[in-house]
Amino acid sequence: MSTQLFCASRILRQASRTKLPTTLKSAPYSSQTKPLTPGDRLQGYRVQQVRQVPELELTAVALEHEATGAQHLHIDRDDSNNVFAVGFHTPVSDSTGVPHILEHTTLCGSEKYPVRDPFFKMLNRSLATFMNAFTASDYTIYPFATTNPVDYANLRSVYMDAVFHPRLEKLDFKQEGWRLEHEDPMDTSTPITFKGVVYNEMKGQTSDANYLYYVRAHESMFPGTTYEHSSGGEPARIPDLTHEQLVEFHKTHYNPSNARFYTYGNFPLEDHLSAIEERLSSFKRVDVPHVNKKVTPWTEPRKMSSTCAFDPLSPPDRQTRVSLSFLGNETKDTFETFSMRLLSYLLLDGHASPMYKALIDTNLGSEFSANTGYDSSTRTSCLSIGLQGVKDSDVGLVQERILAVLNDVKKEGFDNKRIEAAIHQMELGQKHKTADFGLTLMHGISSGWFNEVDPINLLEINKNIERLKQELATGNFFESRIDKYLLNNQHKLVFTMQPDGDYSAKLSKDEEQRLASKVSQLTDTDKAEIAEQGKQLSANQDKVEDLSCLPTLHLKDISPKMKRTVLDHTGLCNTPVQWRTTATNGITYFRAISSLPSIQDDLKLYLPLFCDALLSLGTRTQSMAEIDDEIRLYTGGLRASTVVSTNHSDIDHIEEGIALIGNCLDRNVDKMYDILSKLILETNFDDTEKLKTLIIGNASGLVNSVADSGHIFARTYAASSLTPAMHNAELLSGMTQVAFMNQLASTEDLSDVVSKLKAIASTVLKQPTLRVAVTCGDDAVSANESALSRFISSLPNDDHVPHQAQPSVFAPKYNKTFFPLPFSVNFSGKALRGVPYTHPDGAKLQVLSSLMTNHYLHREIREKNGAYGGGARYAGLNGLLSFYSYRDPRTLETLRTYASATDWVLDRKFADQEMTEAKLSIFQGVDAPISVSEEGMLQFVNGVSDDMRQRRREQLLGVSQNDIREVAEQYLTTNEASMAILGEANDKLLNDPSWTVQQFGQ
Ligand SMILES: [Zn+2]
Repeated sequence: MSTQLFCASRILRQASRTKLPTTLKSAPYSSQTKPLTPGDRLQGYRVQQVRQVPELELTAVALEHEATGAQHLHIDRDDSNNVFAVGFHTPVSDSTGVPHILEHTTLCGSEKYPVRDPFFKMLNRSLATFMNAFTASDYTIYPFATTNPVDYANLRSVYMDAVFHPRLEKLDFKQEGWRLEHEDPMDTSTPITFKGVVYNEMKGQTSDANYLYYVRAHESMFPGTTYEHSSGGEPARIPDLTHEQLVEFHKTHYNPSNARFYTYGNFPLEDHLSAIEERLSSFKRVDVPHVNKKVTPWTEPRKMSSTCAFDPLSPPDRQTRVSLSFLGNETKDTFETFSMRLLSYLLLDGHASPMYKALIDTNLGSEFSANTGYDSSTRTSCLSIGLQGVKDSDVGLVQERILAVLNDVKKEGFDNKRIEAAIHQMELGQKHKTADFGLTLMHGISSGWFNEVDPINLLEINKNIERLKQELATGNFFESRIDKYLLNNQHKLVFTMQPDGDYSAKLSKDEEQRLASKVSQLTDTDKAEIAEQGKQLSANQDKVEDLSCLPTLHLKDISPKMKRTVLDHTGLCNTPVQWRTTATNGITYFRAISSLPSIQDDLKLYLPLFCDALLSLGTRTQSMAEIDDEIRLYTGGLRASTVVSTNHSDIDHIEEGIALIGNCLDRNVDKMYDILSKLILETNFDDTEKLKTLIIGNASGLVNSVADSGHIFARTYAASSLTPAMHNAELLSGMTQVAFMNQLASTEDLSDVVSKLKAIASTVLKQPTLRVAVTCGDDAVSANESALSRFISSLPNDDHVPHQAQPSVFAPKYNKTFFPLPFSVNFSGKALRGVPYTHPDGAKLQVLSSLMTNHYLHREIREKNGAYGGGARYAGLNGLLSFYSYRDPRTLETLRTYASATDWVLDRKFADQEMTEAKLSIFQGVDAPISVSEEGMLQFVNGVSDDMRQRRREQLLGVSQNDIREVAEQYLTTNEASMAILGEANDKLLNDPSWTVQQFGQ
């Protein structure tokens, strides 16, 4: 997860199709706390359990706060990226989104920190590697992570005060939740409308048909329980919530008796407990509200359906979604949960899985539906299998196929090799060193912990694997579960969703009616109050605040010297190899880049498909299902992708290439390189059936990502006319690629596609174009050397070496483009050219964009205009300055805000503290711990050396007020910018000749 936040919160929804029950790990733990035993008393707490989990190299300690009953789980582990989280059980009995709005409002100031949005302000006074808040279906959690002990104490203090003593003022409720306000709050002649951050956030969420499908299907499975409601909030129901109800919900739910505390890392437990106990001492034990979470099992299967917006990007006759959902086990039974997750993995995951073969390979649908997989986020779990991109007439067939597969599997069982591969994946997963292990662990246990599951049981993966092996040996293991939960289960739901061309219009009409009915009830006093409140809110937003009550780190907390990575550079078979030898827990990480000759744009469009084809089509002698089994049995996964990197000293000079990425246990390096070489040399591009499946799946995946990441598409499109790197990014992953892949998806005859892919295959991945990076332990170097030599020698070594792309002459163009799409909110981007990485102005531009975001754009775009997020961003490696807004209801105002940001910054004097804050926020990213597999990658991919990074670090630390003014004047006061907007049709844009309209589909 990146350190850049749109908002202080996110709604959590997940179905875990691909997730096996593994967690990830790092170095051996050092037991720094004195040995504890159950029953021990410590700082007002009583120890309940102490368990070592050797496979994850951690010790877990569960405690209860004696006075209030607050639960605490501490994970002692030798990892400096320490985590703190406090969470509350917040099940709901309606869909007003009360826990979600509370999560936002909680972060709007507290007793000890009475400033607007202290949480957001702390982002700039800290070196946190993670800060956020999440509302899940039945709990709300506030986590952060940092490596700095002072920072940890600062943030803990702000978080604790926010959740236990928030101000929850009425105006904050209105700003974050919902309100009636004049379109222009300063002009009472403009119409009254609905506003509010969560209101718009949820309007945006529900525009995403996949999200909508997931929640509707899930809600339908659990009638009569808390899960039939939306904890995030239904836009139609949010305006039912009152400020009083919000305050009451806080009182009943945010108390220690209803709380769970999580601490992780190498900071001592005693310090955590004494700091927390100090804040809890004023509370008494109270009863926690009861809600029903147990669904009454159905006596017969049910069918339900719903509608969503018609998607102009997808084929018109393939927009139906259908799935079968089955009620599963009680999640309290952790072994059963483990078994069901494994069953789901074996049924659904990868080319060799029976559901993939029956549903995806046959092109019955484009991809699995959003709810597909095993979901244990509820008291009783459920397993769903379904498809999207289905023809209406195939809805019955999909259900028949699913049941036929289940009957087959029950009869024939799973191939032993696949079960072995799944166990291998779990074991390898535990050895992976990731930078955010503590957070991954927290996410893995949270929903169980709030549903009476012992969280430590969820960590003991090896116990489950041992029991699994024993029970598998006695037989009937999966068969009995398929029988019980899937074939003979009356609690089964068929859920379909069909597109409706009038959906968006109906939605707007409903909203208008709700608004009209609210407005018609307003008295003159109400109206006066609305006018007054609108002005007050704007005034509040503009008020300059005294932030001195907030704790902060200082510039001296940032080390002037960066941590260097020792790399060795050698050659093997004339191929440059970068070696990183370090403790990797017995895993080898491999990456290769093959640089491309310059190729035409129309062929370039096929590169992403080519990369996916390598891992999807199979060879002439082996099906992809067979190869996929090998990949899972011997590696931690293989990937191929396109890369475009900008030269560190010239933004018009780029390298284009294809990257191959993989990892495996050291003992399997031979096998990993063999598989890679087989894929490169023998992929069968003539398998048009498989190719068709791949194209349809890709097209559908791309379309779905637009609703979720529209700001990235807008920003990329805007920047594509400015630099060659972004021109390529647009072709390879932007709206152009979305349109291209959808056009291929509707093509019957793929022979031209096949010949294009073969043309690419004949020019790429040759020996002379290759460079390799290997990260492994000392003892694995020689095994890697010999296996790697064989791999490199196996690749074609043509005499005709395609030489590197010459620095192309790229003429920037400045334009404005509008993509009308069926969303009820918009995304926008504006881009300007900056400087190369090594240019001294780069650091200044980076600080400038941080200052603009924190002191101007966030306030104007999010707080005033009601967008979910917005800001400026300087991409140092690409040399691009961009502005963006996310789920934005008032995009035209936002464009004006982008423009006015220049005047604002030229007029503004920044205090030293503000300069420091901007730098702290940048160093959160610069110094964030990274996974072992990422070490040395900036050097390998972009050619950016540690010396260059050290220079950049010094430049960043040295940026002054004057520098900001200078670069603002030089780079912002220009018309040389491009803009793009994605979103609902807007007459002003459609009729403005300075905007180019790009229509999709139909
Ligand atoms: Zn939110």
